[in-house]
Amino acid sequence: MNTASPSGPPGGPSGPRILLRRLREVMAGSGAAQERMDQLVTVIAANMVAEVCSIYLLRDGLLELFATEGLNRGAVHQTTLRIGEGLVGQIAQAARPMALSEARTHPNFAARPETGEEDYHSLMGVPVLRGGRVVGVLVLQNRTNRDYSNDEVEAMQTIAMVLAEMVGGALQAEVPGVGTFGSDGLPRRLAGLSLNEGLARGVAVLHEPRIVVEQHVADDIDIEAERLNMALRELRVQVDSMLQAAIAEPGGESRDILETYRMFAHDKGWMARLHEAIRSGLTAEAAVERVQVENRARMSEISDAYLRERLHDLEDLSNRLMRHLTQGVGQMTDRDLPEEAVVVAWNMGPAELLDYDVNRIKALVLEEGSPTSHVAIVARALQIPVIGRLDQLLDAVEGGDDLVVDGDNGQLFVRPGADALEAFSANLDMRQAKAAQYAALRDQPAVTKDGTRIHLNLNAGLLADLPHLDGTGADGIGLYRTELHFMVRATLPTVSMQSEFYGRVLDQAGELPVVFRTLDVGGDKMLPYLARYDDEKNPAMGWRAIRLSLDRPVLLRMQIRALLKAAAGRPLAIMFPMIAEVSEFVAARALLDREIDRQGRMGEPGPSSIKVGTMLEVPSLAFQLGALLPLVDFVSIGSNDLMQFLFASDRGNPRLANRYDELSPSALSLVRDIVQRCDSVGVPVSLCGEAAGRPVDAMALIGLGLRSISMGAASIGAVKMMVRSLDLPALQAFMVDFYDSPDHSLRKVLTKFAEDNGVAI
Ligand code: PEP
Ligand code: MG
Repeated sequence: MNTASPSGPPGGPSGPRILLRRLREVMAGSGAAQERMDQLVTVIAANMVAEVCSIYLLRDGLLELFATEGLNRGAVHQTTLRIGEGLVGQIAQAARPMALSEARTHPNFAARPETGEEDYHSLMGVPVLRGGRVVGVLVLQNRTNRDYSNDEVEAMQTIAMVLAEMVGGALQAEVPGVGTFGSDGLPRRLAGLSLNEGLARGVAVLHEPRIVVEQHVADDIDIEAERLNMALRELRVQVDSMLQAAIAEPGGESRDILETYRMFAHDKGWMARLHEAIRSGLTAEAAVERVQVENRARMSEISDAYLRERLHDLEDLSNRLMRHLTQGVGQMTDRDLPEEAVVVAWNMGPAELLDYDVNRIKALVLEEGSPTSHVAIVARALQIPVIGRLDQLLDAVEGGDDLVVDGDNGQLFVRPGADALEAFSANLDMRQAKAAQYAALRDQPAVTKDGTRIHLNLNAGLLADLPHLDGTGADGIGLYRTELHFMVRATLPTVSMQSEFYGRVLDQAGELPVVFRTLDVGGDKMLPYLARYDDEKNPAMGWRAIRLSLDRPVLLRMQIRALLKAAAGRPLAIMFPMIAEVSEFVAARALLDREIDRQGRMGEPGPSSIKVGTMLEVPSLAFQLGALLPLVDFVSIGSNDLMQFLFASDRGNPRLANRYDELSPSALSLVRDIVQRCDSVGVPVSLCGEAAGRPVDAMALIGLGLRSISMGAASIGAVKMMVRSLDLPALQAFMVDFYDSPDHSLRKVLTKFAEDNGVAI
C-alpha cells in the first residue's frame, strides 16, 4: 500500500514536471532559505506519499539534518552524521541511492533517538550532488514496509538535483560552510596504486572543472530538447574533426579510440535516456548530469575491465556534450594549462590524455583507474607518472593546489608540507642528475670496460614509444607487443589498418631493427570482439597467445599478412609468444609460410629478408632446444612469464612479488643453460622481460652470457651506465660457483660485487 500518489505516480509523464515546477516556485519564493527548505520537505513528502522527508546537508564535513517533515523538528541542526555513518552516511559515501523496505535490520542502520525515527520501517535516500560532489542526502521514510519503485527513486534523484541548485545558491550565502567538506587547506597525503612510476610536482588541473548546473528545471521542454539536439550535432562534428585530425597525424592510437567515440555519439540508447530526462522536466544540462550519474552508478557495478573502459569513454563524451551546452565553460585550453600540470581526474580515457599538450603534463592522478586501463598504457608510453585508486581524490584536491606525485610508491601529497617538499626536491635532484648522466651516454656505445658490446633494445607497444628509440640511443626494438594496438580499439583492425600501423612503426624505426611479436591476447588481455572463454581458473596458463592464435588461425594470418605487406622491401623479424613445444612453433611457422607463398602468388612485393623466432617463456620449451634451435632464426627469453611458470608464482599477485627472485640459483641456471645452448649452435638469443631493465639483474644476465637484452625506455640509461662500468671477466669469475648455491637469491652478493667493483647500479 501507500505507493500511489493521488495525482498519479511520480514517474508518470507529467507528474515529475508538475512537482519540479512546484519545487522551483518554493525555491524562488521570498523568506529565509531555512523557511523555504521547510516548505520543500512538506511538498516532497506529500508528493512522494511519505510520512517523512528529510534533508541532510554537508556542513564542514558532517551531514547535518537541515529540514524535516515527519521527524522531530527539535533535531534540526542538532543531529549530525559522519560520512559513512548510518544509512544516510552510507548513501553520501557511495554517492548512490538506496531503497530499503526494512531499514531497521540493515547492518548500517544507526537510529538517532532525538529524531523519533524508530517508528519508520522503510527508507529511501538519494545523494544530493553538485558538480559531481555529494553535498547532502535527501531521505524519505514510511511507517510501512514500502517497496519504493525505480521510477520513484529516479524521481527523487531529479528532486535532489533541484535541491542541489538551492544549496549552491541562496543557502550558501546564508549558512557558511554548507555544502563543503571543510577543506582546511592543510597538507594531506593520499595513498593509491602506482600505475606508472616517476616523481613529479605540479599544479593541480581538474580534468573536469566542476561544471555546476545552475538551472535544473526547464522553463520550456521543447526548447531544452532543441538545445540538446544542437549540442549533440556540435559534438558529432567535433568528434568527426578530431577523427580527421587523428587520421592525418602520425599517432594511430587516438584514432582508434575516437572511432569508438563516434559510435557512442550516435548511440540511440544514450540519446533516448537524455531526451527522457528532459521530458521529465529537466533542462538539457541537468539531463546530461542526470544520465551521467546513472552511468557512474552502472560503472561501479561492472567488473569487466573492458566494459568499464567503454563507460569511461561515454563519461568523457558526456563531459564534452556538457561543454557544448555551457558554451565551453570549464573547457581547459592549452593556453590555460600551466607549464607544469598534474591532471586530476576521476578517470579518463586515453583520447582525453592525448588531447592535452602532453609536454606540460607532469603527472596524472585518478580516483579510479587500474594498471591495465588504457590511459595507464598510454601514459607509460609517454613516461608520465600515474597514480590510481586514490580514494576521495576529488574531494581533497582543488584546482591550483600544489601537488607532489610519488608514482614509485603510489602516494600523492596535496599542498605538501615542508617535509614532503624537502624529500621531493632531494629525490628530484638525484633523478635529474642521473637523467643528465644518462642523456650524456646517449651516443656512447654499450660496451663493457673490457670491450664487450652489449645490445640494448627497447620494448615498445604503441607509436608513442617510438620516439624513445632516438631519445635513448637504443639499438632497436627487441620486443614490439602488437596486442596493445588491438586492445585500444573497439573493433578488430582490418589487414590494411594493421599494415599501415606496422608500416609506421618500421618508418619510425628507420634503419634500426624491430622484432614484432604476434598477438599475445587472452588471459587478462581480452579483446572485446573476440569470442572469450570465461571459465578459466588460471587465465595466465589458459587459452592465450599462440594457443589462441593457432585455434583462431584467421586472426594470426591476418596479422602476418599485414606485417608482410608493411615490410615490403625492408627486413622483417617476427616472433611467436608462449610457445610451449616445438610443434606449436612449426604450426605457426607453417601459417607464415602460407602467407609468404600467397604474397608471392599475388605478385605483391615482400620483405627484403624475414627472420622468424620464438619467445621462450614456458619452461617446457627449454627441454626441447635440440629440436627447436635448428628451426628458428633467434630466441627471445620472456623472463616475466618464464619465472611465473618456473616458480608456479602468479606474476600479478602482489603477495608473491618478493617470494621468488629472478636472481635465484635456479632461475639463473635455467637462463644460463638456454643461452649456452643457443650460443653453441649460433642462434642469437636475447631476453626481454622486466629483469633486463634493472641494472643488477641486467648485470647478472650479462655475466651468465647474454649479449642482447630488451627493456622499457626508462631503463636504457641506467643499464647502459652499468654496462660501461662493468669488468666482465671479473664478473664471470665471480659467478662461476653461483649455480650450485643453496641460497634463496644471489641478489645481495651481486649487489656487493657491483659496489666493490665500481659497477654503477
Ligand atoms: C615476458 O613474459 O617476459 C614478456 C616479455 O612478455 P609479456 O610481459 O608481454 O607477457
Ligand atoms: Mg610473456
